[in-house]
Amino acid sequence: MEKNCTDALPLTMNSSKNQETVCIFGTGDFGRSLGFKMLQCGYTVVFGSRNPQTSSLLPNGAEVLSHAEAAQKSDIIIIAIQREHYDFLTDLTEVLKGKILVDVSNNLKINQYQESNAEYLAQLVPGTHVVKAFNTISAWALQSGALDASRQVFVCGNDSKAKQRVMDIVRSLGLTPLDQGSLMAASEIENYPLQLFPMWRFPLYLSAALCIFFFFYCVVREVIYPYVYEKKDQTFRLAISIPNRVCPIAALVLLALVYLPGVIAAILQLYRGTKYRRFPDWLDHWMLCRKQLGLVALGFAFLHVLYTLVIPIRYYVRWRIRNITINQVKSNKDDPFSTTTAWLSDSYVALGILGFSLFVLLGITSLPSVSNMVNWREFRFVQSKLGYLTLILCTAHTLVYGGKRFLSPSILRWYLPSAYVLALIVPCTVLVLKFVLILPCIDKTLTHIRQGWERNSKISKSTLNGKMDI
Ligand code: NAP
Repeated sequence: MEKNCTDALPLTMNSSKNQETVCIFGTGDFGRSLGFKMLQCGYTVVFGSRNPQTSSLLPNGAEVLSHAEAAQKSDIIIIAIQREHYDFLTDLTEVLKGKILVDVSNNLKINQYQESNAEYLAQLVPGTHVVKAFNTISAWALQSGALDASRQVFVCGNDSKAKQRVMDIVRSLGLTPLDQGSLMAASEIENYPLQLFPMWRFPLYLSAALCIFFFFYCVVREVIYPYVYEKKDQTFRLAISIPNRVCPIAALVLLALVYLPGVIAAILQLYRGTKYRRFPDWLDHWMLCRKQLGLVALGFAFLHVLYTLVIPIRYYVRWRIRNITINQVKSNKDDPFSTTTAWLSDSYVALGILGFSLFVLLGITSLPSVSNMVNWREFRFVQSKLGYLTLILCTAHTLVYGGKRFLSPSILRWYLPSAYVLALIVPCTVLVLKFVLILPCIDKTLTHIRQGWERNSKISKSTLNGKMDI
């Protein structure tokens, strides 16, 4: 449901701002939509246009004047014009002196120009206070009221009073201003709307690579091999059996990859003996997209659960069970109950259920609405301690799945082990390394380093010596 400006505001603030006049240069899509929203919120809106007489589709109640006339009506002017057309503003330098110019512009490409549009505007019209704002809000969202997903307005500018006034307007429109600092931040703000899921790219490419590799690996083992050796057509496995191998493998490997960068970072800190040296860029980037990696992993785990739930209704499964039973009846033989197999099968399912439940819990706590409700220690407890427990449970689930067949030469096909054996390499490596890192002697050094101790620093050496003397 649309939240109107009155809902989003304390009453006192709304009423004090209602009479303010705001000037908007440009009667295009964005200028009109912003003007419409401002009128709704009680502002007086004056448009500055090249053709004040012929401008159409403007919201009722707005005045349209020439640029110079409109600029005189307000000390806040929103420049809703493409950067390429800013040149005409130089002729208005005198009229605009001392006024606040709000740059809302975006570019077509990331880092399209050397300087940001807002900095360019400030150079073009000296003596004005340029503030960057509103560029992350679309004209459509302003008009339709669908602002829930894009309520944040990044604001930056060199003059703090000017910035504050623009932030007040942003708030009064029911939006959330986020102060990003000086105008130097404008390039970054202008790049935001052009980015396409920057944090999701690495997890998605990685999961695509994993899926493709394991899919073809399973096809070779489970479709091509039986065809070559037994002339059996197993292509039906492409629909459910193979995806149901690939999904849990991708989920497990990606979950392990959430924890691997933390382990690598700890090893690097131990090796360097300091926390004050930057990690390599690739490790930094990897650490930043751990949440996305985890969520993609959770998606694969969900798919695995769904594929597993349909197993009993699959024709192939029903046919096999029927055939085994009929053959037993025919040969008058029964299958003796094996307690070991029962244990393995139940443990496999139990570990899977527990691992998946904790996995879901991790996913839920990564949602901003939930993570905002817990303190740092609680968040770390869930994401780190419960996260490792989830990894242990899911790894154990896969190990038990292998059961007695695990690493048996009879399961090799063309010397290739089962896909789940390969899938265990990364999680087992992470768990072993983590186990080593939490050994008291290593953990103690790591904790010291994380508290600021440096192995090669003279001060820390003397402190340590002093402590030893004592
Ligand atoms: P638009 O529909 O093309 O409108 C731009 C307006 O600029 C025109 O209607 C015109 O107004 C004026 N103009 C055009 N050429 C001019 C020139 N040579 N000299 C002076 N004025 C000129 O563009 P828009 O979509 O409204 O976008 C306006 C600005 O908002 C852009 O910088 C854009 O990056 C930014 N923005 C847009 C959106 C969006 O969703 N559309 C979202 C965020 C930011 P007059 O005819 O009245 O002079």
